Amino acid sequence: MRRKLGIAVALTALFAISPLPSAAQQTYKQLPVSNEAYVKPFPPLRIIGNLYYVGTYDLAVYLITTSAGNILINTGINNSVAPIRANIEALGFKFSDIKILLGTHGHWDHVAGMAEIKRLTGAKMMMHEDDTPLVESGGSMDYRYPNGRGPIFEPVKVDQRLKEGDKVKLGDVELTVLHHPGHTKGSTSFTYTAKDGGRDYKVLIVNMGSINPGVMVTGMPAFPGITEAYATTLKRQKELRPDVWVSSHAGHFNLHQKYQPGDKYDPKRFVDPDGFQAKIQFYEKLYNAQVERERQEKSKSY
Ligand SMILES: [Zn+2]
Repeated sequence: MRRKLGIAVALTALFAISPLPSAAQQTYKQLPVSNEAYVKPFPPLRIIGNLYYVGTYDLAVYLITTSAGNILINTGINNSVAPIRANIEALGFKFSDIKILLGTHGHWDHVAGMAEIKRLTGAKMMMHEDDTPLVESGGSMDYRYPNGRGPIFEPVKVDQRLKEGDKVKLGDVELTVLHHPGHTKGSTSFTYTAKDGGRDYKVLIVNMGSINPGVMVTGMPAFPGITEAYATTLKRQKELRPDVWVSSHAGHFNLHQKYQPGDKYDPKRFVDPDGFQAKIQFYEKLYNAQVERERQEKSKSY
């Protein structure tokens, strides 16, 4: 199984570096697949109303359908475009109907396929202004690497830079942009109202304040204000009261506890306000514990 997956990954990697007619220079260096759940296929599902999950087993990709074309939020890692496309088509939607591309944050496991999807669909790429350098540099301008790490995915040109409170409108859908920095400088959540069975549901697509290895939350030279950024994000997220919430990773919103492939669509399935509060408090505890640990380590070293 492991060996088969290894071969599959090797083959797809080989395919990715073969010359594509429209992507002349692919000068980025792909990272190895660090988590098999990132590439494990998962059948698409309807979350609620016009919100669909079209990602892999763990990397959440969302399709929001509107009266004037569709919005895609996130991709997976490099080579994720074909499975995302297959998932969208399996739901009966057209890949070419994607008009707007959004990202919850600019790390490779959520945006590496953006450049290719933009090229294939002509969709408009929108990203928070503070993560625009990250996606336009192919992941190089990451605050964990003050001198840049070099591109690790195909850079994508951002057509519209987003800010806190901006509205992203397409047809009958209007998303509100919430800036939730910490995990990256421009981490973003989106809210909107989904309708089902004559009821309105407050939907939140949230980027959690999780902390990656190598991040010091008490101070990072390339991210002044990181401590307050995390603290403010967690505080603001705790004040949100969504009916339905989903996140950048399936594991972040307990997808696999809430849903098994083949389960019938149920608009109530993902209504989980208490689970949301519990999850934010979980990340807040991790953050507070890490702040404490880092401060103790710093005081020891003096
Ligand atoms: Zn990330």
